[in-house]
Amino acid sequence: MSKNDFDEFQKQIQKMFGNNVKLQTPFGNNFQKTASEEPPPQPEEPVEDVFEKIRNFDLKPKDIRDELDKYVIKQSEAKKVLSVAVCDHYNHVRRCLEGKDKLGDEYAKQNIIVLGPTGVGKTYLLKCIARIIGVPFVKADATKFSETGYIGKDVEDMVRDLAKTADGNIDLAEFGIVYIDEVDKLANSGEGRGGKDVNGRGVQINLLKLMEEADVSLKSQADMMGQMEFMMNMMNDKSKKQKNSINTRHILFIVSGAFSKLAERIQRRLNGPQIGFMSEHQESDDINSYLSKVETADLVEYGFEPEFVGRLPVRVACESLNENDLEAILTNSKGSILTQYGEDFAGYDISFDITRGALKEIAHRASLEKTGARGLMTSLERVFRNFKFELPSTRINKFKVDEKTVQYPDEVLKELLESNKGLQKEQLVAEVESFAKAFQKDQGFTLHFDEGAIELLVESSLKTGKTIKIICEDKFKDYPYGLKLISEKGNIKDFTISREAVIDPDKELSKWVVEGFQNSSED
Ligand code: ADP
Repeated sequence: MSKNDFDEFQKQIQKMFGNNVKLQTPFGNNFQKTASEEPPPQPEEPVEDVFEKIRNFDLKPKDIRDELDKYVIKQSEAKKVLSVAVCDHYNHVRRCLEGKDKLGDEYAKQNIIVLGPTGVGKTYLLKCIARIIGVPFVKADATKFSETGYIGKDVEDMVRDLAKTADGNIDLAEFGIVYIDEVDKLANSGEGRGGKDVNGRGVQINLLKLMEEADVSLKSQADMMGQMEFMMNMMNDKSKKQKNSINTRHILFIVSGAFSKLAERIQRRLNGPQIGFMSEHQESDDINSYLSKVETADLVEYGFEPEFVGRLPVRVACESLNENDLEAILTNSKGSILTQYGEDFAGYDISFDITRGALKEIAHRASLEKTGARGLMTSLERVFRNFKFELPSTRINKFKVDEKTVQYPDEVLKELLESNKGLQKEQLVAEVESFAKAFQKDQGFTLHFDEGAIELLVESSLKTGKTIKIICEDKFKDYPYGLKLISEKGNIKDFTISREAVIDPDKELSKWVVEGFQNSSED
């Protein structure tokens, strides 16, 4: 709330309750900026265009599936189910906007539950879908919620976040997508119980109200200043037309979770209890495949309220990703993490070629992490970390990544630097020149580094890994003052830095100062 708004609010209150009533702010005079005082962030796509897209929504499930195929590897069942549910939802929204909806309150929203291990593309699928349609998207973590909102976040905060993502455009937020991860941790009894403090049942009840239809106030109950601002807006004539709440009727809710224990229960239901070798050695990846057989009873026994499960009619499981899938993500998916590395290096005009063997090795190492495609990020980071640190400071503008690079990145980098020592030296010599140039500009003195000095500085940089700039700044830190003294005596502006000056800069400087004074007294 701004000071002006606060004063206005105070006036309104005093009109109602008399001049003795004085408002106090818990923040003293530190008024918050109101949204209107800050420039609104620019939406990616003009809001009107998005509305136009929703009003004319004519995508078919296969259109969405085809688009998802460009980005997401595998998960064909999830792509199919999500494409159908999303098309149904936005077709319904379009009919409502046209006033042609025949079902009215009878329409059952297609909220979705996505089951599957971590890092296999659950969030990514939904993010891509929201981008295709152009609607705002928010992701929240169910473990952060509490029933009351006093301990953790309130479920309604997600809907408010949707409005923020839509740059405050409530009408657009009302068609957005809310994605809630780790919903398996909300199971309140039975096998899913995680022994958490949070009342999972209470959060489920709050969530199901939202999934059905609710009006969520734009201002949280916990936000006192927000509430005051809200009241003031209510009293203010010109803002009466503004929407103060978000209706969740057309918001699509998607919940997801890993549900690993649920997979075990479905396996028992289908195969009977297994003992001995098989169950002990069952690969967890195989276990996840049982999630595609989930039934309502499984979810209820897992610890979900039947009403909650009932609001999630669309259920789909995502598959685990094996080594080949991870390799395919690197090579075939648009905007993959490998492309990002390519772009990062391109920022320094550096490019790299990667061999098939290297891709296989990265995928292999990633699969050992058991975190799905997230393992790729860990593997790639390990390979490229020191390349990213070292190469931008050299003149090396191309390198190769093969299997050995993935296995022994530091050794390969060392070899690369060694075999390009000539190039690296060229770069360091150029850095000495840059230092001299900067010194000239800042201090007005010209430093001529002789060959011996340059050689010593380059050696020092190669040995310590420090930049020439920092080595020179440290060595010649007293030079600006010393050179000024000398120049005042003899008006000298040019100095030659020899090998001796690099070895003991202070001794050399003192020698020059003494010589300078001697010369001036002789004159
Ligand atoms: P989760 O299943 O835990 O929600 P995410 O969808 O957040 O996993 O995946 C993390 C990242 O891994 C994504 O942003 C994406 O870059 C990559 N990724 C995961 N699964 C796939 C997939 N099937 N195809 C392509 N990329 C994927």
